This record gives sequence, structure tokens and C-alpha cells, in this order.
Amino acid sequence: MPQSFRADYHVHTRRSDGRASAGAMVAAARRAGLAEVALTDHGPRNIGVGVNSAGVYLDLKRRVAAWQGDDLRVLVGAEANIVGLNGEIDIPAAVYRQLDLLLVGLHPYVLPRGLQAARDLVLANQLQGCSRRWRERAVEANTRTLIAALEQHPIFCITHPGLGMSVDIEPLARACARAGALWEVNVGHLYQQPGELARAAACGVKFVVNSDAHQPATVGRLEEGWAILRTAGVPPEQVVNLRQGF
Ligand SMILES: [Zn+2]
Ligand SMILES: [Zn+2]
Repeated sequence: MPQSFRADYHVHTRRSDGRASAGAMVAAARRAGLAEVALTDHGPRNIGVGVNSAGVYLDLKRRVAAWQGDDLRVLVGAEANIVGLNGEIDIPAAVYRQLDLLLVGLHPYVLPRGLQAARDLVLANQLQGCSRRWRERAVEANTRTLIAALEQHPIFCITHPGLGMSVDIEPLARACARAGALWEVNVGHLYQQPGELARAAACGVKFVVNSDAHQPATVGRLEEGWAILRTAGVPPEQVVNLRQGF
């Protein structure tokens, strides 16, 4: 019996680098039969793609009331960037506390805070193919800063862990499980290996499958995420947005 999903918690709009308006993305979620969708635009320090300012999220939050319905709950969140080695993110707590959910992820092109963060979070990741030393420095910094962020902020999920910016799976998955944060299976990128997901699952973390849609056509298209999780031997109960009872 095929599994289906009730929610997609990672969708971008034109306010960051999505191609469609928030209204068009919500309409797509409704067409896809979802019960929940979250609009989660990139944080402001993501170079070239982030929102103009964190106030954009609050503006969107005021507007979504018009799109709510009994069939579909529309959430407003953010995909914040890690910008400092102590887990600092680019959305202030005063803003994210007013949002429905906070996603956090590592992205290669961010404006870091401070020279050390520039070296370890940006340069080391760009040079990771050049030498083992740079790669080790990148993995260490990536993992440490995500764990620090999990300890400070109420994070719903870590977006695309390991995509382009490698992480140490077990320590990060254990930190997610401790913090109650989810491990994202990102269908928009589909880079994850079943073996890696099985290692994360063994640490007790729960998963969320998201589209990372940047256009209406891919909102709620999540089936391939379940295919990988199934291959990894992850039971449906460990995936929070599957419709149970199939
Ligand atoms: Zn992302
Ligand atoms: Zn995204």
C-alpha cells in the first residue's frame, strides 16, 4: 500500500528565491491535498536569495489569515542560516518566536559573523575538496555549529543535513533527538543515501520529508522521500508527516 503525506513543512516563495507568490504556493498545497503547508523563506544573510529583512516573515504571517481553511492550515516559518560558530542564526529570537516554526540549515553562500566563522563555515567548505585538513575542519565546524544552534533555538528541523556541507551524522542526529528537532529528508535535492539515514535513525531521531519547493508544481511531492526511508529500514512511526493508518 503506498504511503501518503499530510504536510509539507519547507516551501519557498518569491520573498526569497521561490518563483511563485505565497498565494500560489498555498493554492498548490491545497491541490496536492495537504492538511498543512509551511512557507519557509531563506534567512536574510543568504547571499542573493534571502529575504530583505526578518520583518518579511511577520508581514507574511499577517497575510496568511486569508488563505486558512478547514481543509488546509497554513504556517509561516523561516529557513534560517547558521552565521556564527556558536550557533548564531540570521533571524532574531524576537521574530522567530512569532513564527509557527523555525527551520535551520547550512548554506554555502552566507554572510558570516566574524573572521573565524568566515574561515570555518565558508572557506573551509569551499576548500574541502583540496585537502583532508580543510575537509576535517569543515565537517567539524558544520557539526559543532548545528549542535550549538540546536541547544539555543527551538528548531523544528535541520534542513538538508550534509548537502554540500558535510556533517558527522551520529553526533548531529543524537543532538537532534535530544532537542526534539527533526532530520529532514529533502526531496528537492534527493542527495541522501539510505545508509546515512539508517545511521541517523539508529540515534533515535525522527524524520520529516519536505519538498523544498521553489515552484507550485513540486509542493507536496514527497513520495520519493518515503522510498529512501523505506530502503533505509525506517518505520513509518519515525516519520512525522506521513499519514498513518494506511
Ligand atoms: Zn536550504
Ligand atoms: Zn529551502
